[in-house]
Amino acid sequence: MTETAELAVIGGSGLYALLEGATKHEVNTPYGPPSDPVTIAEVGGRRVAFLPRHGRDHRHPPHLIPYRANLWALRSLGVRQVIAPCAVGGLRPELGPGTFVVPDQLIDRTSGRTQTYYDRGAVHVSFADPYCPAGRRTLLDAAARREIPAVDGGTVVVVEGPRFSTRAESRWYASIGGTVVNMTGHPEAVLARELALCYTSIALVTDLDAGVETGASVTQEEVFRVFGENTDRLRALLLDAVAALPADRDCPCGRALDGITLPIPLP
Ligand SMILES: [Zn+2]
Repeated sequence: MTETAELAVIGGSGLYALLEGATKHEVNTPYGPPSDPVTIAEVGGRRVAFLPRHGRDHRHPPHLIPYRANLWALRSLGVRQVIAPCAVGGLRPELGPGTFVVPDQLIDRTSGRTQTYYDRGAVHVSFADPYCPAGRRTLLDAAARREIPAVDGGTVVVVEGPRFSTRAESRWYASIGGTVVNMTGHPEAVLARELALCYTSIALVTDLDAGVETGASVTQEEVFRVFGENTDRLRALLLDAVAALPADRDCPCGRALDGITLPIPLP
């Protein structure tokens, strides 16, 4: 019998492993295999799964991540709550490298990515509030306990990539209310909602986006360097948060599909 997990962390750039003493699980789904084998271990009495979004060796670029397989695989293992750290560019000058943001909104600027499981029937999930309120509270409290400054709320602009933004795009994202910019937050968030999973993001600012900073524009090397410097803080914060996440879900996420007739059975 396959081992099960209750909650999961989907690690982003720079976070390719999280759990010690974990068992490894090859999972398959109707959408193919996930980005990497899923590892499972116990943290603070909870069964926790970890999946590196890009694969351990970062082989999946943001526009080619098997998003549907990833969320489906986690749900099939029993996961109902997901915490999703990611690297972002800051769109506000005050959000310098090393700042953590727990976003409450997103704007989808991706194109050509499949963003639903339901290609038949009428399945229109509510997405007004894309992130789990209980998960957000838990992450913010965990950051406060460790005296790690974390910004409560913000809008993630998710771009197609893999290139970084032009200065004009970056200024425009800021002008329409964007706080940070990223390449993976969508469709991950909506696919989690379509499976009635709790989904909470924590964004680590690795650079100021092109329209905000004044010198040379962002480089991949700089992004990975800042992420590396903050990986230990992020890992500690994530382990605190998964142990503290309420097991009883009284948030709306688990009821996202109530009253909807699904064209396919969920795992
Ligand atoms: Zn929730």
